[in-house]
This record gives sequence, structure tokens and C-alpha cells, in this order.
Amino acid sequence: MTDQHQDLPPIEVMPKDLSQYRVGNRGVEYVHTFDSGRPGPHVIINGLTHGNEFCGMIAVTHLLEQGIRPVRGKLTVAFANIDAYHRFDPAKPFESRYVERDFNRVWDADTLEGPDATVDVKRARALRHIYAEADGLLDLHSTSYAVPSMLIYEPHAKLDPLTRFLHSPLHHVILPGVKHPGRPLIQYDAFGRPDASPLAVVVECGQHFARSSGEIAISITMRFLDFYGLIPADLAAQYKPESGPAKRYEVTDVKVAKTDQFHFAANFIGFEDLPGGALIATDGTEEIRAPAEGCTIVMPARRIVKGRDVVSLARRLQ
Ligand SMILES: [Zn+2]
Repeated sequence: MTDQHQDLPPIEVMPKDLSQYRVGNRGVEYVHTFDSGRPGPHVIINGLTHGNEFCGMIAVTHLLEQGIRPVRGKLTVAFANIDAYHRFDPAKPFESRYVERDFNRVWDADTLEGPDATVDVKRARALRHIYAEADGLLDLHSTSYAVPSMLIYEPHAKLDPLTRFLHSPLHHVILPGVKHPGRPLIQYDAFGRPDASPLAVVVECGQHFARSSGEIAISITMRFLDFYGLIPADLAAQYKPESGPAKRYEVTDVKVAKTDQFHFAANFIGFEDLPGGALIATDGTEEIRAPAEGCTIVMPARRIVKGRDVVSLARRLQ
């Protein structure tokens, strides 16, 4: 594996000790459900799908520390890949994304019900019945490079009211169908079915270790809870939508490193607009070039692992 840039970003946020949240009330560690006792939707705020993406941890601990409780329905908070989180090493900050297998690439029945015995898949099996209860799931993530925060979702009409209401962040990346090697959590079961009502979106809140990413995660979390009517109006009013139109991109291809010799052709960070034919990377002897009509690069990986996805190509939608 290679690190595209040897220099490490400043680490403004370090992991917090979460041991006080280990014993939850669901029989699954690091998961807490708060029931208002009133009818309403069940909303899940999910942090640490990737162990080194601290913004989700910041938003979930904010809800717990502030004692935020739903005024209707139920609120569940989860620290997802807690084992990966516990392995964080500031000298190798990109290596604790997962332990053995990316928790966000295992959400198909074959993997969940198959023989895989990695700690990440075991954790997914422990959590799946909880995610299956959700009417709405917000999956909080961050990026290797400091790029604008973005909302990622599938092109299902059922998501339109939610994404319109959030109106933050304003970069939208639309993921048509399963393009990654392995299914992401937002495509798990009912979330990925256009005719089923449960909704799930990812928000990428900025650079993994930036303090601002945690602040964005808290803000989007509150807007998400407000969409479902779970928080009081005076609290919701503190978190406003952004102004201006959304910029929408559709993922057209997800590139997977085929060799140990995958190198980007430039120091891409994300959202670069490339003309048709531009060299993006070399993978062994193969050249990866922008398609004829050009493309935008989304989320180039910093830590490149053979067999894993390393960058998405997207096109701007009008
Ligand atoms: Zn992530």
C-alpha cells in the first residue's frame, strides 16, 4: 500500500474515551435508544462507520453529553466500528478506518449471512437488527482531504423531501446503484429499496481530524432530527440551511486498485474538474483516464490498498 502524500494533516481532534457509553440499553455495546413514549419515527444517528472519522463521534457524544432526547418517536445513537476507533494511532492516522474489512462495504445478505469472521463483519451482524428499525438513518463520515462537505445518497424519489429540507451541505453526490465492491450501509435492505419508506444518507463533513468537521456533523445531525420532528423548535432554529443552490454530481464509476502499484497522476484532493482523456492514475501498467466527456474526482483515497476502491469519478448534473 502507498500513501499518496507523505505529510500528515494536523490532528485537531483526538479520540475521546467512550468507555462510559459502552453499556447501552439495547444489549449491543455502544448503542443507546431513547424513547419519547410518543408516536413518531425512529431515527438513528450513526458515527464511526469508519474508525478514524471522528466527526460522527463528536456529534453522537454531543447528543449524549447534552442529554438531547426525542420529543416524539425514538432516537438511537450508535458508535459503529468501535474496534477500529480504539486502534487509532496518531502516527498512522489513516490506518484505523477499519480493522480487517471496511464496515461500509458489507451490507449485503451474502456477507452478513456468510462465513466472514472479521471483527468488522461481526460488529455489522450485531448492529443490523438495530439499523433495520430505522425510519431514518444519518451515517456520519469524513474525508481524507479537506474538501467541501457533501451529502451522498441514492437517486430515489423517496429521499427528495429529506435532501431538500437539509439543504446542507450543498455538494450532493448521487450514487446510482451498487458501484462499490461491497454494499454501503445506506444501501442496506430497506434503505436501498425505492419502494420502502426508510431513508438513509451519508454526510461527509470535511477532513477526518479537523475540528470544523465535528461542528458540521452536529449541525447536520440537528437538521436531520428536525426533519423528523424529534427536537424542539427552539433548538432546531439554531441550525440553519445554507443559502444558494445545491451542486449535484452523479457517480459514474468507482475505481478499485488492481495492483500494489497504484499511483495518482497528481495530488488530487477531490472535486477537481478534469477534461476528457486526462490521466488520473496509473495502476501497474494500466492508465486510468477521464472519460471522453470529462469528469469530476470524488474522494481519492489517501491510503491505497489493492482490491479496495480508491476514487470515484462523477459527472456534474445540471
Ligand atoms: Zn467514511
